[in-house]
Amino acid sequence: MATASSADGSVNASADSEQPKRKSKRRKTSHLKLVPESKDMREAVRAKCQAICDQVDKSRPMTKDEMEVEVRKILEELELPEGYLGWTMVMFASEFWREQVAAVPPNRRLFLLPHCLKHAEGCPADYDQFGLDCKTCGACSIADFRGMAEDMGYRVLVAEGSPIVHKIIVSGYVDAIVGVACLNVLEKAIDKILLAGIPCMAVPLLSDDCRNTAVDEDWVNEMIQIEYDDSAPQTRTYLHLMRASMDLFEPDELERIIPRMRGEQRLSDVDGNGLGEIDPIALTEAVAYDFLSKGGKHSRPFITLATYDALTGGQATLRDGAKTIEYWSDSVKRCAMSIETFHKASLVHDDIEDDDPFRYGEETVHNRYGIPTAINIGDYMIGMGYRFVSTEAATLGADVTADILDVLAEAHTKLSEGQGAELLWRDALDKQLKPIDALKVYALKTSPAFEAAMLSGIRLAQPIGEYREPVKQFARNLGVAFQILNDLLDWQGDDFNKMAAGGDVLGGRPTVLHALALEALPETKQTELLDLCREDHPATPAARIERVKHLYEEANVFTMALKLVDKHQARAEAIADEIQPEDLRRLMYFLIDSILERPEEQLQQLIPAIIEAPDSESA
Ligand code: SF4
Repeated sequence: MATASSADGSVNASADSEQPKRKSKRRKTSHLKLVPESKDMREAVRAKCQAICDQVDKSRPMTKDEMEVEVRKILEELELPEGYLGWTMVMFASEFWREQVAAVPPNRRLFLLPHCLKHAEGCPADYDQFGLDCKTCGACSIADFRGMAEDMGYRVLVAEGSPIVHKIIVSGYVDAIVGVACLNVLEKAIDKILLAGIPCMAVPLLSDDCRNTAVDEDWVNEMIQIEYDDSAPQTRTYLHLMRASMDLFEPDELERIIPRMRGEQRLSDVDGNGLGEIDPIALTEAVAYDFLSKGGKHSRPFITLATYDALTGGQATLRDGAKTIEYWSDSVKRCAMSIETFHKASLVHDDIEDDDPFRYGEETVHNRYGIPTAINIGDYMIGMGYRFVSTEAATLGADVTADILDVLAEAHTKLSEGQGAELLWRDALDKQLKPIDALKVYALKTSPAFEAAMLSGIRLAQPIGEYREPVKQFARNLGVAFQILNDLLDWQGDDFNKMAAGGDVLGGRPTVLHALALEALPETKQTELLDLCREDHPATPAARIERVKHLYEEANVFTMALKLVDKHQARAEAIADEIQPEDLRRLMYFLIDSILERPEEQLQQLIPAIIEAPDSESA
């Protein structure tokens, strides 16, 4: 794989510019999910996929677009209709990854089964936190599949959905996934799992009825019994980098890389919140370390580490990438941790400003310690974040350290400006807002962290040079699209953090949804919307939310907002299209897909026509 960055940081546009470019699209797919009716036909398609996958380059994961090109050729050759596209894509992906799955020992594979395979009428099984707890009554094939897989050492899960699978695999529990699922579930999972380079195979269900479903059982048996063989070719994967980003914040690793200055006692060692048990001077540090080790996706340190890797040969994306990362200096890791520390500090302050009671499923810092102490803990973490970089001048060089500090300081300043604008709007009596002003706030609040994470990774590898402007524009569009998507998802609530749907309205956030509604509604309804935003409005919160949602629907803002997501995503993709080297470009595509992941089911509740939405190009 070419790595064409130059020593001075210029963007080399010549080395591998023939690589395929991305086409942003969101399109109707319901007509592409037919299952070939006869077993003979299914066998023929699978054999063709096998034959082609034996020949393709497996050094990097194929994107969905690249696979679709191959799959369309197969369907054309076999004179089969386009309706089988989704099913054939799953077959093709499975054959592409077959050798990689074989290279993972069975006890490091996850076998995923859907509960809709169960005998719906008489199944005695209950559900627990790990999914369906099959009682092996023998009335359906789940017990047999499960028994066979467990005998071989597999971890087995009877559950639905890609989020849980993604979490399990990133946490380091398993290294490959084999499964059975309907085409709807597989379609959602395929982009994320494939692009991340996670070895996976699947046998699609023969229907998507969600009840008493069936599957080609001999294929499932065959898939489970794939023998361990580690001679497979290497395929690039982001898995090691994702895991490394999470591991940096595991309590032991956190303290190894960044030893405490004040005391040894962890908050987790004492009952309660540590007051009276931990030395008051050490308590601020203890709370900060505790909060740093708490949840989150760790996407910012991932971006820094992955960018650094992309510009230094991409070794961390190879099969033994975990070893590569182990050998990286702690200075590189501290820089990646710095950006997460700023993020966590901003969350402590955000929670105060929004008076949120829960974060990561636990009480927020200010709820436990009071507002003044929480402000101070956030401030302490900002100091920590700068220290993580400033102490590395001896190993990284004074110029590198200064450049990274500069990047971080700029992001910090912009974020505060965006947050400031938001708070001032929230406290103002005039709730007028133009879409462009809402988007400006988003660009300040959300984008700088992505920009700083990438630029830090670049600077660790080489001078930033000509990367600065494209990375800035890429981050701007990515951040804005991400924030609009968040606004849409706010209408679905957040059970984990016990937040109700429509929290942005009650919290007085200046969202682009509000701005779009004000632009589209007739004057009387604009006045009504502005009135509903008043904190002292006499209606109950639930009634206010319901009425605002109704007005938003009338103004068609959910659909308009989703089109804005498409537009900014397309712009980010266009910038990534021009980036060299290929490793960095591929990372940017991955960031777009993973950060802008669209939970279609949730969005569909909000915008029923989403699945039938036209291509974004024509929108
Ligand atoms: S075998 Fe398991 S999943 Fe199937 S019907 Fe019996 S208890 Fe339910």
